[in-house]
Parts: sequence; structure tokens; C-alpha cells
Amino acid sequence: MRIPILAANWKMNLSRREAKNLVEDLLKVAFPVQQREVVICPSFHLLSEVGSLLEGKANYGLGAQNVYWKESGAFTGEVSPTMLRDCGCSHVIIGHSERRGYFHETDKDCFAKVEAALQHNLVPILCVGESLEQREAGKTKEVVLGQLQGALKGQSVSSGDKLVIAYEPIWAIGTGKTDTPEGAESTIAVLRQELGNLFGERIAQQVRLLYGGSVNAGNVDALMAQPNIDGALVGGASLKAESFARIVNYQTQASLAN
Ligand code: PEP
Repeated sequence: MRIPILAANWKMNLSRREAKNLVEDLLKVAFPVQQREVVICPSFHLLSEVGSLLEGKANYGLGAQNVYWKESGAFTGEVSPTMLRDCGCSHVIIGHSERRGYFHETDKDCFAKVEAALQHNLVPILCVGESLEQREAGKTKEVVLGQLQGALKGQSVSSGDKLVIAYEPIWAIGTGKTDTPEGAESTIAVLRQELGNLFGERIAQQVRLLYGGSVNAGNVDALMAQPNIDGALVGGASLKAESFARIVNYQTQASLAN
């Protein structure tokens, strides 16, 4: 059984005080049942503080939004996997479309980052997704499969629960437009099939595949009802305790209210 993951990508937002308030509020209203994991991914300057607030909280993990693949040295502005571990990170987002787009990260970079994360016992949350032009040209599956292969082909993955993939169509990120549950399921099913080709069926069935792109309190239940969607990577809606709590508590809200 794959334990669902609800991951918050705070991007470049929040002061230390705002982050503290948000986590404290979230812990009051989000009730991750045992079989559900929540991963909070703040910017680097908040990692230690958020990590302290989450310490000892069952089902909560801490993730970074980026990592460099070298261990240490003259790489000004970069942060190594060991440093992330030192801050208490369990996860790291790799290859987000904003990093691929604004910072020109390539599949080769993503490969090196995934490899470094796996070697340091950090769970990579590898993001893949197509642009609107690529989608309209009918190239969605070709694009995401290329990104998946580029970052993963040749990696040594001993257990599928140490790897997370997020399918995030670029046109859906921060736009309020979401893929349909069936559309997201269809692309994610193709990604799982390719994981089977790369690592074998046992591992492919263990990997958590998330959907990301304007996930909110109103659409999370239908997305999570799809058999291959194992969670969500959430940007905007993770910056408010109530909306992210509703996402964390997906499909249980009615019973919680009673
Ligand atoms: C994201 O940045 O990963 C994301 C999915 O953002 P949003 O939920 O705001 O679309």
C-alpha cells in the first residue's frame, strides 16, 4: 500500500514569524491520519525553524526546494545534501518547473541532484510537466517521459518508497487551472508504467506519484480518488493553514465535522 503524501511548496514566501504562525495554526487544524504523510518545503532560511516546530510530530516531514550535488566547497550560494540533512530535512524537491524555466536546470542537473539526494537518504520529489504549447501539440506524455528518463535512467533505486514523482503541468501551476482528475490519472499511469521499465514492477508500485497544479480544497477529493494519484504537491493553497489543512484532511472533512 502506498501512503499518500501531501506536500507544501512554500516557494520564496514567508518571514520567520509568518512561517511559525502558519505551522502552529496548521498543527491545530490538520489531522493527518496514520496512513498519510505531510511534507512542508519552506525556503532555506526557514528550514531549521520549521524543522524544530515539526520535531516529534508524527507523519510530518521537512523538505527543501532545491539541492546541489556536491558535498562542500567553493560553490557560492549552493546548499549540499549533507547540509539539508543537518537541518533535519527528509525530502527535497528537484526539477520544479520554476527551476527548469528561470534557472535553466536540465535533466542532467536533475539526474545529479536525484543521485546525490538518494545517496544521502533524502527522498527526492522529482517534478515533471509539460508547457501549454507542448500540451496543445499533443506532446504531454512524450515530454514527461523524457524528463523522467533523463533524471532517473541509470539511478540505483533500492526501494520505491524512497522516491517521489510529482506530475505538474506548467500551465496549471499558480493559474487556478487544473488538469481533470482523469487527465492527471492518465499521465501519471504512463509515468508509473515507465518506472516499471526503469526499475521493475515492484519498485514502480511503491513509488508515490503526486499531482501538482492549482490543487485546492475544492478539487483535492476528486484528484485523490484516482487510483494512481498518491498525493499532491501544493503551492498557493499551502500558504494558508485552513486551505492546506483541508487538503491534508481530504476525503475525511465530512467525518471530522460530525
Ligand atoms: C507548485 O508550485 O508546485 C504548485 C503546484 O503551485 P500551485 O499549487 O500554486 O499551482
